[in-house]
Amino acid sequence: MAQLDGTAIIARSLKRQGVEHIFGVMGFPIVDLAQVVQREGLNYYGFRNEQSASYAAGAVGFMTGRPGVCMTVSGPGMVHAVAGLSNAWANCWPMLLVSGAPDSYQREQGAFQEAPQLEAARPFVKLSTRPDSLARVPAYIEKCVRTSMAGRPGAVYLDLPNDIIAGKHDEASVPWAPCCGAPPRPLADPREVERALAALRAAKRPLVIVGKGAAYAHAEHEVRAFLEASRLPFLAAPMGKGVVPDDHAQSVAPARSLALQEADVIFLIGARLNWIMHFGLPPRFARDVRVVQLDIAAEEIGTNVPAEVGLVGDAQAVMSQLNEALSAAPWQLAADSAWWTALRAKIAENDAQVAAMSRDDALPMGYYRVFGEIRAQLPRDAIIVSEGANTMDIGRSMMPNFAPRQRLDAGTFGTMGVGPGFAIAAAVTHPDKRVFCIEGDSAFGFSGMEVETACRYRLPITFIVVNNNGIGAGETVLSDPIPPNTYTPNARYDKVIEAFGGRGFFVNTPDELRKALSDAALESMPTLINVMINPVSTRKPQKFDWLTR
Ligand code: ADP
Ligand code: MG
Repeated sequence: MAQLDGTAIIARSLKRQGVEHIFGVMGFPIVDLAQVVQREGLNYYGFRNEQSASYAAGAVGFMTGRPGVCMTVSGPGMVHAVAGLSNAWANCWPMLLVSGAPDSYQREQGAFQEAPQLEAARPFVKLSTRPDSLARVPAYIEKCVRTSMAGRPGAVYLDLPNDIIAGKHDEASVPWAPCCGAPPRPLADPREVERALAALRAAKRPLVIVGKGAAYAHAEHEVRAFLEASRLPFLAAPMGKGVVPDDHAQSVAPARSLALQEADVIFLIGARLNWIMHFGLPPRFARDVRVVQLDIAAEEIGTNVPAEVGLVGDAQAVMSQLNEALSAAPWQLAADSAWWTALRAKIAENDAQVAAMSRDDALPMGYYRVFGEIRAQLPRDAIIVSEGANTMDIGRSMMPNFAPRQRLDAGTFGTMGVGPGFAIAAAVTHPDKRVFCIEGDSAFGFSGMEVETACRYRLPITFIVVNNNGIGAGETVLSDPIPPNTYTPNARYDKVIEAFGGRGFFVNTPDELRKALSDAALESMPTLINVMINPVSTRKPQKFDWLTR
């Protein structure tokens, strides 16, 4: 009777569920498992810290719609990966964390790296579970994958004690589980569809907000068709960028504050009225704003502001319903309406202001000039990963996306350190696209060692570190005591990547930046462009604080 190892059963079960990429740091008790995973034809990427590996798994979930997998050792390794679970939880992304654990018989004996792993995962996951036997592993993995994708997506956790990993089972009688398909795409109540259209049609100042739920649902064709048929203005949430191209004539991104503040009806498509959207409350929104809300999670409808219309369902499916109903009884917001006229005037005003700032020749450079140079050389289908404070905030308006699911940033959880893990996930899932990881120097520091990972796998990511010597405005010379927000002035992050065979560029001027970007584009290895900017450079004056209270 041929016996199959536990490692092979785990690896084949993951493969059967459509998993292609596994990110982790190996060690007891998953040393053999990581090797067997490779032998079984899965791609295993060894990271330098489980945090980044877990961020990569979440990013795969967002970009592909099936959970990325992070694999960790027991105890500290698993605890580090809670970072990725929490980030996926906040962003509603499917991911699976599989962690080794001590042998079951050693539980509660103070085993090596023993920890309450199921409990550590639980607040951030849809399911935190542990199979009781090797025979049940295929069914557990199927359930984990299905649960992560179903309804509102999220993270799941699977605990694998060493005795299960090291076990054996009769090869002929392994109870394999079939691959779970894509989750169902529920339709909304047709009466709500009619009510949504009626509310938008009656609005004087309607606004559509496209969130990352729309991106996740692959609703790009349906959303665009709806916008073009209705001629409604739209704003993209940070990771909803690219569902409809940022240069679409109906994007009112440059007039964001005005659009939010004056809209009388907003239509949220897979976007939440949380802190990023200022809770839907004054002063950022009109006091009596009416809300039409589309979300897969019924409990989300009405968060912070009561929703007048609740479209509970999948964004792609429900937008098709809306399109059908709209084509049966067409209407459009007039191009010469007072609302479009006001929005266009504001867009022109803000565009002119930003254009001037992005041409500013002052040295050291400010953010807008840096982004102006980068933007000029970005391919249209670039994947943009971005994090940092000003770097990310200003980058949201200055770095356009033209295709969906190609913008990844610190997101709903505001997690710093996600950049390299996200960029590696993007590079391995989209080998045909160029990946730019644009981050502040402080953000880079959280996971900077992962440039070694990028170099080892020869992933031609362009890292751009927008360096202001610290968090917010760092200093140019260290004073005593060292200010809490200041890091080593003029730190040579570009030299870090050279230690691993990548190419670094140290840049002070627009000319140098332009040249570095075009040289980096020719490299087959990762590159890092370290851009020194004016430490006191900031965002253009904003009407509201970023966290409006
Ligand atoms: P953003 O930050 O872009 O506003 P959020 O993460 O706040 O996006 O909101 C995304 C919303 O999308 C979540 O409330 C989630 O439940 C929802 N969502 C996820 N998948 C789908 C889907 N297939 N169809 C519709 N909504 C979805
Ligand atoms: Mg900084």
